[in-house]
Amino acid sequence: MEDVVILGTGPAGLTAAIYAARAELAPVVLRGDQPGGQVTITDAIDNFPGFPNGIAGFELFQSMEKQAERFGAKIVSDTAIEVDFKNHPFKIKARENAYQAKSVIIATGSDPRKLNVPGEKEYVGKGVSYCATCDGFFFKGKKVVVVGGGDSAVEEGLFLTKFATSVTLIHRRDRLRAHAHLQSRANANEKMNFIWDSVVTEVLGKEGGVQALRLQNLKTQAESIFDTDGVFVFIGHIPNTQVFKGQIKLDESDLIITDRRQRTDVPGVFAAGDVQDPIYKQAISSAGAGCMAAMEAERFLAEQAGEAYPGKLE
Ligand SMILES: Cc1cc2nc3c(=O)[nH]c(=O)nc-3n(C[C@H](O)[C@H](O)[C@H](O)COP(=O)(O)OP(=O)(O)OC[C@H]3O[C@@H](n4cnc5c(N)ncnc54)[C@H](O)[C@@H]3O)c2cc1C
Repeated sequence: MEDVVILGTGPAGLTAAIYAARAELAPVVLRGDQPGGQVTITDAIDNFPGFPNGIAGFELFQSMEKQAERFGAKIVSDTAIEVDFKNHPFKIKARENAYQAKSVIIATGSDPRKLNVPGEKEYVGKGVSYCATCDGFFFKGKKVVVVGGGDSAVEEGLFLTKFATSVTLIHRRDRLRAHAHLQSRANANEKMNFIWDSVVTEVLGKEGGVQALRLQNLKTQAESIFDTDGVFVFIGHIPNTQVFKGQIKLDESDLIITDRRQRTDVPGVFAAGDVQDPIYKQAISSAGAGCMAAMEAERFLAEQAGEAYPGKLE
């Protein structure tokens, strides 16, 4: 029987692990299929405080993991495949082992939806990006493309106009899905251009970066090549919540619903990071939520044991 089981070793899970371990809860932390989470697929994280020269995503993960282990977190290579949160203690069935826990912190992240076209994977971090806040700065004075037609595509596109000389939004339909006020702002921005009824069918690269995109017009089937230094893909996120369906409340996008204290609708089950975040989706905001979830798990356990916990909340 564990006090806390943490699912995921991205910034949210590992920060939760550091806090829970320092609270002497000896958390068991499941790495899942992507140890380190999304940060490990990017070369440089430039906006995580404490690293004035930036840090490679993989290095950030390794440091966080070491820090959690230093305080007694037990980090295991295992992936949850089934959970029972209807009964307490909670049960987690994973590929390798089964776990019982008095509290659980879910930090399984969410994956940006990919284009799934040739060249995309090869150029992630070298011109293909899923985060304007993270990578926009690297495109100062350059030409970029945004793929998508919803609110985030337009918002992020507008954000990118701060850096890029031009931002061309490519959308599979003939009009945007984004809210009217965003559409007006996009139309009024001289740096924004639009290519309608089109999809990206290939990312074409040169040594070290993206050079162009192969496009297809869905109405005429005509193919074209569009030169660009970078492509930002905003066609949605897929939260890693399959395993929790029917066990805790999810919203219409399958994100876990939490309150301001990272509590789900099941007392003792907390969630942190991209798996419950419809807005920020950053390493640091995920880490912050992981800290809060661990402190709340500690509070929950203390209350269950009838112990006093400092700073009791409503
Ligand atoms: C290419 C790219 C570049 C980025 N660059 C930056 C940047 O520069 N700065 C920044 O702040 N943010 C950046 N981000 C965003 C940032 O990486 C995420 O916001 C952050 O990683 C989310 O952290 P998380 O811990 O919530 O989830 P994730 O990092 O997604 O980690 C999820 C973890 O859960 C595990 N998991 C999943 N399912 C299960 C399961 N069933 N059982 C057990 N474990 C499971 C996975 O293996 C993984 O370890 C970038 C994202 C991408 C994709």
